[in-house]
Amino acid sequence: MHEHAAVNISGLSKSFGGIEVLRNVNLTVHKGDVVSVLGSSGSGKSTMLRCINWLEVPDQGRIEIAGQRIGVNDAGKAMSQRELAAIRAKTAMVFQGFNLWPHLTVLQNVMEAPIRVKGVHRAKALEQANELLAKVGMGDKAHAYPFTLSGGQKQRVAIARALAMNPEVILFDEPTSALDPERVGEVLQVMKNLSAEGYTMIVVTHEMEFARAVSDQVVFLEKGEIIEQSTPQKFFSNPDTDRVRKFLELMN
Ligand code: ADP
Ligand code: MG
Repeated sequence: MHEHAAVNISGLSKSFGGIEVLRNVNLTVHKGDVVSVLGSSGSGKSTMLRCINWLEVPDQGRIEIAGQRIGVNDAGKAMSQRELAAIRAKTAMVFQGFNLWPHLTVLQNVMEAPIRVKGVHRAKALEQANELLAKVGMGDKAHAYPFTLSGGQKQRVAIARALAMNPEVILFDEPTSALDPERVGEVLQVMKNLSAEGYTMIVVTHEMEFARAVSDQVVFLEKGEIIEQSTPQKFFSNPDTDRVRKFLELMN
C-alpha cells in the first residue's frame, strides 16, 4: 500500500505587502524523518513553518499533512475553522519562546490540550502526560510552575506538550535560540531522542552540529527559495553553491 508523506509542500508562494518571502517552495518530508531548515535571518524559514499549519495562508501552493490537504477543502473552498482545526491538530509547533501557561503546573500544561481539544479523558491525559514528562526528563517537576524552571526545562515541557497531541509532524522554530548556552544541549538531546524514536520533525535551527548529526535532509532557504536540498553529508562537506559555502564558513 502507498504510504503518504508526513508533509508534502508543492508550489508554495507567499508575499507580504508585495514582497515575495516564499517563492515556489517544494518539499517532501517522509514519515520518521528529520528535516533541518537553515538560512539567514529573513530568508522565510518561519513563514514556511507557519504556512504548513496554515497560521499563514499561502498565496499559492498546496500543503498536505499525512495525505490530507490543509486550508482548502475538496470543493476547492477555504476550509471552515472547524475543518481547519482538525487538520492543524495533526501538527504541533515548538517556538523559541516556550509559551507555557503561567498559571498551570507543568503537568497541567501537558494535559490541557488533549482534554480540551481532543476530548481525551482526564485519567488517560494524566497517564500520558506523566509518560511524556519522563521522556523529556521532567518527571520530577510535574507539579512545578513554569516560572520556577530554567529556559531549557521550559522548552522540554513545551516539547512534551507538543507530543501530547500525537502530531504527525512537529514543527520547531529555533527551539534553542532563546536559551542560555549551557541549556542548549539538554534540549537538543531530547530532540535527538525523539528522532531516534521515529518522530517526524521539521527543525528551523542555527545548530549546525545538530543539523549535521540528526537530519535526514537539510534544506537551505535564501530569499524565500530553497537553493539547496541534500543529505547532511553532502550539504556540510560539498555544497553546490557559493552561498551555502559562505554561510557555513560564517557559522564556524
Ligand atoms: P526567518 O524566519 O527566516 O527569519 P521570516 O519567515 O520570519 O524569516 O520572514 C521572512 C520575511 O517576511 C522577512 O522579510 C519578514 O520581515 C517578512 N515577514 C514575515 N512575517 C510578516 C508579516 N506578518 N507581515 C509582513 N512581513 C512579514
Ligand atoms: Mg524565523
